Amino acid sequence: MKKCDDEKMTTVTTAVFGSQEMLKSAPSEKIPQHPTTPEIAYQMVKDETYAQTQPRLNMATFVTTYMDEYATKLMNDAIAINYIDETEYPRVAVMCARCINIIANLWNSPEKTKWKTGALGIGSSEACMLGGVAAWQRWKKRRTEQGKPCDKPNFVISSGYQVVWEKFAQLWQIEMRTVPLTKEKLSMTPEDALAKCDENTICIVPIMGVTWTGLNEDVEALDAALEEYNKKTGYDIPIHVDAASGGFILPFLEPEKKWDFRLKWVLSISTSGHKYGLVYPGLGWVVWKDKKYLPDTMSFSVNYLGAEIAQVGLNFSRPAAQILGQYYQFIRLGYEGYKAIHSSSLEIAKYLHSEIGKMHPFSNYSAQVHNPLFIWEMKSEYAQKSKWTLYDLQDKLKQNGWMVPAYTMPANIEDTVVMRIVVRQGFSRDMADQLLTDIAGAVTELEKLQYPTPSRIAADNKVKVKGTVFTHTGKGK
Ligand SMILES: *Cc1c(COP(=O)(O)O)cnc(C)c1O
Repeated sequence: MKKCDDEKMTTVTTAVFGSQEMLKSAPSEKIPQHPTTPEIAYQMVKDETYAQTQPRLNMATFVTTYMDEYATKLMNDAIAINYIDETEYPRVAVMCARCINIIANLWNSPEKTKWKTGALGIGSSEACMLGGVAAWQRWKKRRTEQGKPCDKPNFVISSGYQVVWEKFAQLWQIEMRTVPLTKEKLSMTPEDALAKCDENTICIVPIMGVTWTGLNEDVEALDAALEEYNKKTGYDIPIHVDAASGGFILPFLEPEKKWDFRLKWVLSISTSGHKYGLVYPGLGWVVWKDKKYLPDTMSFSVNYLGAEIAQVGLNFSRPAAQILGQYYQFIRLGYEGYKAIHSSSLEIAKYLHSEIGKMHPFSNYSAQVHNPLFIWEMKSEYAQKSKWTLYDLQDKLKQNGWMVPAYTMPANIEDTVVMRIVVRQGFSRDMADQLLTDIAGAVTELEKLQYPTPSRIAADNKVKVKGTVFTHTGKGK
């Protein structure tokens, strides 16, 4: 290969920081002409990540930031395995089917077959899509059989939906009908949901662990109301539960609570293995109540060693490591282990909730903490005389390495700014105390301000100039 005259040859003996590469900007347009040593390439890529939040101090994410060494080793060992190569790696497919069985049973599946009906996804997003598509296809088949038009499908969900449902609506052209959250109604009521339904409703989607608030919706009440409604109208509207967080919390912390397949109209449930399933990203799961609710058009069967594995998914190739991670966690932790970890997270979340609720500038959005996450806002009397907002607090906390997001609530209550903390495995009481100290310290600093911050000025102007919505990069979704 011809070398440019001004280029020094990089050799194995070149010191990383004595190399030409360290004097040049990192490539962002074209692939570099020449190779470099792995040490230099490693250093350059690694250094790109320096300024980022430490994952464990990221209180914004729901996604696993801690797994033990054995889990990490298993996953690293499997990093080269493509899940879809079932013929080459049949045990991975079996492990996946076992995970689906275990999850289906945690959700009280009534299915009696050896292998329960479900699928894995890259996250809840893929799992939600699959649940939604199945509901749409079932609805379409029934309508076609009845000789009725199928061109105007819709689904009903709270305005506290996660962005995946907006994608689902757009990509499949299915109308999304939202039930607005209000200051009085912190989650979707059955009456409000049913008021949005008609013959074209493919499903209602209650959320267990609403991303915006951490609250659960009352699926049992919805199911009862739906039973009446379907009887009266002759419709067959089912429920898909988006249990991205709750799917791995409720079976351990509130096993008596009925939100799952014990309810008649719940035909599918999705969750994120990489949230409270305690696996590094990306892993999601969807389970159907019975094989008959998964349209044939969506699945194909693979028969291996007597195991009938239904393959369903939007992706084809995908990493297998997460399945090993999930199966390891089931074996390593067992029911009691998951319960202990999630109880600790919930207890720490409740502790933070109560301590933050006692701080004079703040009030909690809800008195309840059902999942290990909660949101709070600035008291309106305090906001009126303060020189700062929660966005300023977010910035202050960032200086201590914490990522605690401030964001505005969804449509209807979009001028309410809140702050959220998600507690996960890997966050201890000691860390909670450090965070509380840093919040109290930040408040003390902010209260010394002589002049209002730009975000305070913008918020105050918004109140004065009616109709202008003050927005900021929200982390709500
Ligand atoms: C996180 C979340 C999703 C999307 O899940 P991913 O696993 O990130 O794809 C969907 N719904 C709800 C309620 C969520 O909290």
